[in-house]
Amino acid sequence: MTAWVLITGGSRGIGAATALRCAQAGWDVAINYAQDSAAAVALASRLDGLGRRALTLQADVADPGQVAAMFERLDQAGGRLAGLVNNAGIVAPAARLEAMDMARWRRVFDVNVMGTLLCCQQAARRMSTRHGGAGGAIVNLSSRAAEFGAPGVYVDYAASKGAVDTLTRGLGRELIAEGIRVNGVRPGIVETDIHATSGMAVAAPEVTSAIPIQRLGRPDEIAEAIAWLLSDAASYTVGAMLDVAGGR
Ligand code: NAP
Repeated sequence: MTAWVLITGGSRGIGAATALRCAQAGWDVAINYAQDSAAAVALASRLDGLGRRALTLQADVADPGQVAAMFERLDQAGGRLAGLVNNAGIVAPAARLEAMDMARWRRVFDVNVMGTLLCCQQAARRMSTRHGGAGGAIVNLSSRAAEFGAPGVYVDYAASKGAVDTLTRGLGRELIAEGIRVNGVRPGIVETDIHATSGMAVAAPEVTSAIPIQRLGRPDEIAEAIAWLLSDAASYTVGAMLDVAGGR
């Protein structure tokens, strides 16, 4: 029977690399995205080429109705939801706290925290043995910023990822007896389009030289960790946060 992994924000960046890696590992992949349907469709056809089923699902993860509808569309595709990667996440332009406003904070927390909560809830209702499910694995994308706090850049984003860390630890312990392993990955600075939003010049020599490994990460390097946490090879790993950050 088909085993689906749903990857939120799966159309670009770390999510797209994770979709490819999961397809190579034998998963059928549901690719969620917010706006860029062309990127999602192009990725889905690459996964088809690998012989896996791929489904594109537009939904804003911050919207409870859209999240519920997305999971229902996946139910209708047939097969079983066995994996969820809460990868969709946003930053906002780099700023000090005094210059931020409530609308920005709401959006960052709505996407990064509420989106993760909403998708975990829908997945738990389907995967948990308590609800007749067959178990599964959830991986939440946090950030090393959760520990550094990103002062002067985006403390709001860092705080949202701190919430993701705490949720991951708690939910990992809440759901493990029902067959669901919940873990998280904390990437360092990775080469994706997300930095265009913050305006941070992440490839600048002063940035890379401050990273012990002396370079940015690649999306496929984060995807490898996510795929491992989803797999049975990580069967005893529960409520853990895995730093994939070049020593940062
Ligand atoms: P990215 O390149 O900006 O891609 C973001 C993806 O999320 C896109 O597929 C986008 O879809 C989707 N998305 C954005 N808002 C959404 C929403 N409201 N609902 C559904 N999908 C949404 O991001 P990334 O750099 O790969 O980051 C992925 C995750 O890793 C995020 O959680 C981020 O915080 C975390 N992370 C990244 C880094 C880094 O350096 N890149 C470091 C630490 C942690 P559309 O294209 O359709 O908008």
